[in-house]
Amino acid sequence: MSRSAELFDRAKQLMPGGVSSPVRAFRAVGGTPFFVTRAAGCRLTDADGKSYVDYVCSWGPLILGHAHPAVLEAVRGAAERGWSYGAPCEGEVRLAEVVCRRMPSIEMVRFVSSGTEATMAAVRVARAATRRDLVLKFEGCYHGHADGFLVRAGSGVATLGLPDSPGVPRALAELTVTVPFNDAAAVEDVFRRRGAEIAAVIVEPYVGNAGFIAPEPGFHATLRSLCDAGGALLIFDEVMTGFRVAPGGAQARLGVRPDLTTLGKIIGGGMPVGAYGGRAELMRLVAPEGPVYQAGTLAGNPVAMAAGLATLLETERPGFYEALERRTARLVAGIGDAARRHGVPVTAGHAGSMWGAFFTGGPVRNFAEAKRADAGLFARWHRAALERGVYLAPSAFEAGFVSSAHTDADIDFTIAQLDAALAAARPR
Ligand SMILES: *Cc1c(COP(=O)(O)O)cnc(C)c1O
Repeated sequence: MSRSAELFDRAKQLMPGGVSSPVRAFRAVGGTPFFVTRAAGCRLTDADGKSYVDYVCSWGPLILGHAHPAVLEAVRGAAERGWSYGAPCEGEVRLAEVVCRRMPSIEMVRFVSSGTEATMAAVRVARAATRRDLVLKFEGCYHGHADGFLVRAGSGVATLGLPDSPGVPRALAELTVTVPFNDAAAVEDVFRRRGAEIAAVIVEPYVGNAGFIAPEPGFHATLRSLCDAGGALLIFDEVMTGFRVAPGGAQARLGVRPDLTTLGKIIGGGMPVGAYGGRAELMRLVAPEGPVYQAGTLAGNPVAMAAGLATLLETERPGFYEALERRTARLVAGIGDAARRHGVPVTAGHAGSMWGAFFTGGPVRNFAEAKRADAGLFARWHRAALERGVYLAPSAFEAGFVSSAHTDADIDFTIAQLDAALAAARPR
């Protein structure tokens, strides 16, 4: 028995599914998850000494790859000065300055400890500002695990094929209206019927939690104008896309200015950080300036702030995003070529270094179309890739990521292995 399998057996006795977050259990792809003992650059090493080129990258935060020297130095330096103060520190100010500079729609920001907290608080602010309760979200979008968001949610909820989660009071679920992503007419229809009740439209500007789905041209501009006309706020959930798809996030790439933005993942550089921010007039509603309550024991943690700051500053090197996008485009094209060679229909795409591939002829514009992809083929491909030393997200409903630690040689290696994995996985 492998060391990972042994650890997993012990874990299953102690933790639901043996994991701390559901998709890690490999339920959608079969087999047992590997347990990681160390990580450096673009590679993970498991408890049995096998190494993998990693396209999960901690589910998005590690845009520089694992244990990047600049981040390691920042974390070490911060930890030596003590790792939690329960009082303000300079790191918060410095990270806030970078976030606000790079995303001008964020005039003021509040740090929290996860993306889930960020979206919960942003919606609370939107409800307080508009004195309305209804939230419009899109099928397959994931905004963390707070009650009101577990309605037709993506990520693990989609991976496990769960209906909306038990434990969410109906009264709360009824405050969330869902429509298909990329369906402007459906949004318009909800505004026509219930516009006076809508506090906010929340959206993953590029969907990453139903697999990777790009918005159609003009979709977000339409959301912007419907929100303006209806007196609702537009919230971009950029927990995944923020500082990933462009130096200024999806809002810069798409040229649409949201009222509120939620962040996480990259801004913590792999440490537990989230943030929400937006127009100053809205953020001044937050306690202690305003009445909207939100707090956190470990919020603004000095080690986490240092990791996030070091990560963001590294991404400001000239050509950083261009090089990353070029490599990602090559990977995605390589997967497309391999699929064509093996006669497998595929719809693949990317934005910056966020990417995805569905085994379907497409188009994939929304969650329903994403679910048409061949799940069995994906599972076999995933297992075959893992055997060949490539770690893809263990679910077809998750985006992949390329980091600056992935070299051209790593991408070449990956394309060759994924090609061979597809040959092994395809139905004959
Ligand atoms: C990951 C993610 C979240 C949740 O963040 P956590 O830190 O896991 O709570 C929310 N929204 C989006 C778009 C995400 O990708």
